[in-house]
Amino acid sequence: MAGIYLHIPFCKKRCIYCDFYSTTDGGRMDHYVDALKKELDSRKDYLGNDVVETIYFGGGTPSQLAPGAIGTLIHHIRELFATTDDMEITIEANPDDITDAYLQDLTTTGINRISVGVQSFDDKRLRFLNRRHDSVQAMDAIKRCRQHGLGNISIDLIYGFPGETKDAWAADIDKAVALDVEHISAYHIIYEEGTPLHRLLQQHAIAELDEEASAEQFRLLKSKLEKAGYIHYEISNFCKPGLHARHNTAYWQDKKYLGCGASAHSYDLVSRRWNVSDLYIYMDKVNNGGTYFTEERLDLATRYNEYVMLSLRTMWGLELETLGSRFGIRLLKHFLDNAQRHIDDGCLVINDGNARLTDKGLFVSDGVMSDLMYVE
Ligand code: SF4
Repeated sequence: MAGIYLHIPFCKKRCIYCDFYSTTDGGRMDHYVDALKKELDSRKDYLGNDVVETIYFGGGTPSQLAPGAIGTLIHHIRELFATTDDMEITIEANPDDITDAYLQDLTTTGINRISVGVQSFDDKRLRFLNRRHDSVQAMDAIKRCRQHGLGNISIDLIYGFPGETKDAWAADIDKAVALDVEHISAYHIIYEEGTPLHRLLQQHAIAELDEEASAEQFRLLKSKLEKAGYIHYEISNFCKPGLHARHNTAYWQDKKYLGCGASAHSYDLVSRRWNVSDLYIYMDKVNNGGTYFTEERLDLATRYNEYVMLSLRTMWGLELETLGSRFGIRLLKHFLDNAQRHIDDGCLVINDGNARLTDKGLFVSDGVMSDLMYVE
């Protein structure tokens, strides 16, 4: 089983924290869709015999693309690849793009899951982030998705803002719960180098929340969402039973994926490949020939490290048998030897042949994982 990711690198304006590749030049969308189809054509064998079970339109802002173009791309994938009947097909969308007219057309394309970039329900914080929408637009957008029959809605939230109080974060979580969405992704704010947000930090115009306050916000998130019936299935992701994001889960479970479009990444279990982060170079090379990607063959230690890091992020954890069969006895022993200290500390458990982080381990996951890495 495998997934296909399509990067749609268009945004109406840039948010201050974002370091994803995108452009505010939306004048070339039709050409870009043609280039995506060409890339799909040329890479139709990348996934081997694996059947495609998920498609993900990520960005940028995929909801800037007309539903007709989304439908064309889904149709193109179905023609080129073996696909399952119940494919999960997700689109990321900005609340202010989600109009009745847009949804009416979108729901005829095969899209069956929408991930809405809410980020916050506090208008002051939304303005600080330079988002295009306000909280009322976000709530209306979600209700509208429901009215148009979208039964699998996810929202993104950001927490840990400079100066954010526990009460303010609790209010955001409560609003998310009240919307009764199927899935919530919640990320601590990151000060990515090169972003306006990072510059504000460097200029001391804002101050990072301290570690204990951040940990407290994470604990609050987890306890409120679990109380509301959500399953904490990955460090930053919560879902109603059975409704985890199948596409992203495949990344964490080390499955193959084909990524098309400017800056998209692909993985075929033995190598990684990433496309150039430039719309114009990408389209030129796809259309006229030439290399538009970089590729790295992954050695055994790198593949082991990624497998450990990704699988331990999830509630399913890491299968020791799979670890041994894929990476050999030596790396299995390395894992078990280094895991013991964290088992003794109560951060890691091994049950039924699976290693998992405990609640305590989730709070210190970076430290636990780095101890389990293999460095030659
Ligand atoms: S809309 Fe999304 S991709 Fe575009 S700048 Fe904002 S966070 Fe980044």
